[in-house]
Amino acid sequence: LFVCFEGGEGAGKSTQSRLLERWLVDAGHTVVLTFEPGDTAVGRSLRQIVLDPATGDLSHRTEVLLYAADKAEHVDTVVLPALARGEVVITDRYVDSALAYQGAGRDLALAEVEHVNRWATADLRPHLTVVLDVEPSAGLGRFEGRDRIEGQSLEFHQRVRQGFLDLAAADPDHYLVLDARAAVDDIAAAIRERVAGMLP
Ligand code: C5P
Repeated sequence: LFVCFEGGEGAGKSTQSRLLERWLVDAGHTVVLTFEPGDTAVGRSLRQIVLDPATGDLSHRTEVLLYAADKAEHVDTVVLPALARGEVVITDRYVDSALAYQGAGRDLALAEVEHVNRWATADLRPHLTVVLDVEPSAGLGRFEGRDRIEGQSLEFHQRVRQGFLDLAAADPDHYLVLDARAAVDDIAAAIRERVAGMLP
């Protein structure tokens, strides 16, 4: 089982992915909890390059390729091996982040960003993507002074948010969209209810 968490800054993805992990482990499943960008050795370097404010402005195509390289390494060395062992994989961000940030957020054609990312991930698709939806002005407050996202406008983050919602609307069988402002326990319960029906 392959589950992704997606959403904007400050949506609570890491909190909810940890809660889901704990619940699955308590139920006896072996779980790999991972994230993008940066959960491999080369990924850590790529994350440093792409998110360091000192990097300055990157060509948007360069940005797509750096994130896609992180994904290729992540899928080949972490996600696919764990799935092959029959484990549950939970990732904090995946292809939809590229489609939302670099596709919807930037001036690049969504189909092209998708093509690069499908190739990078050997077209591995999650069984479920949980979108934690948050109004950018609410989510961004938690991240002042953190990294390169600081330089991005509210309009950019609004396009990103809409990007996630459009992906979910196009494929409701594979998505669960939740209001990130709800109570942590209520969000966790909704996720558990959906995942329970998908377990082997
Ligand atoms: O989820 P996390 O906070 O680790 O993500 C790091 C940053 O990478 C986020 O601020 C997000 O804006 C950015 N990002 C991006 N494009 C992606 C993936 C992440 O701009 N494809």
